[in-house]
Amino acid sequence: MRRRTILQAASAAALNPYVPYFWKRVIYQGGGKYLSVGMLGCLVGRMPCGWVCPFGFLQDLLFRLPLPELRLPRRLGIARYLTLLTAVLLLPALTGVSWFSRLCPAGTLEGGLLLQAAPPASPLPPTSWFFWLKLGLLVALLAWATVSRRPFCRVLCPLGAILGLFNRVSLYRMWVEEESCTDCGACRRVCPVDIDIREDPASPDCIRCLECKEACPRGAVGSGFRWLTAEGQAG
Ligand code: SF4
Ligand code: SF4
Ligand code: SF4
Repeated sequence: MRRRTILQAASAAALNPYVPYFWKRVIYQGGGKYLSVGMLGCLVGRMPCGWVCPFGFLQDLLFRLPLPELRLPRRLGIARYLTLLTAVLLLPALTGVSWFSRLCPAGTLEGGLLLQAAPPASPLPPTSWFFWLKLGLLVALLAWATVSRRPFCRVLCPLGAILGLFNRVSLYRMWVEEESCTDCGACRRVCPVDIDIREDPASPDCIRCLECKEACPRGAVGSGFRWLTAEGQAG
């Protein structure tokens, strides 16, 4: 199994099951809740999306099903900034309700369903129309992920939108040595978010998974921390 898949699986296993919930009936309240994702973004940009996030991993797995691909236009990416502005910032400020958190399919899968499976602590009875709305959104999203590469990450996720902005300023950088490139297209074909690293190595869409670097037969794709690499310092 490949290195990234192993790390994604390990992080999904480490981040999700808070086993004491089943006898304590309280959600995890430890220090890990307050780890600063913003600080991580400064260091490595959107790399947590490529290596750590369980919901990204799940979408990667679903896309491996042998189905025809529905390619997504790049401009749909603007929707994740709209989600950030409306569902995360504006609507909660106006209504006092954290709408994105309540509807987020990743939260439904990794938190809501688990709570549902372990009553009576569940805050949302399965008869609630809101529960079925959340479940419907989750199922639709997972179905979409079987035919498109990481649709939630590319179109809807506000955390991905924030982390992506750090790609231009993070200490970890990527670059392409144009003189080594033979235009074979291998980097584009393996990209889990369907972008071409040669167009913009600091693109906010890039999840820093390094699949393109691994796939390049010419070693033309590079990456590293600014202070450790000549290319990074020059960039
Ligand atoms: S964009 Fe969101 S769901 Fe996708 S990998 Fe990043 S944090 Fe996870
Ligand atoms: S451009 Fe490369 S590092 Fe970025 S998401 Fe695509 S394959 Fe991964
Ligand atoms: S895989 Fe390497 S050689 Fe092929 S197009 Fe991409 S950067 Fe160029």
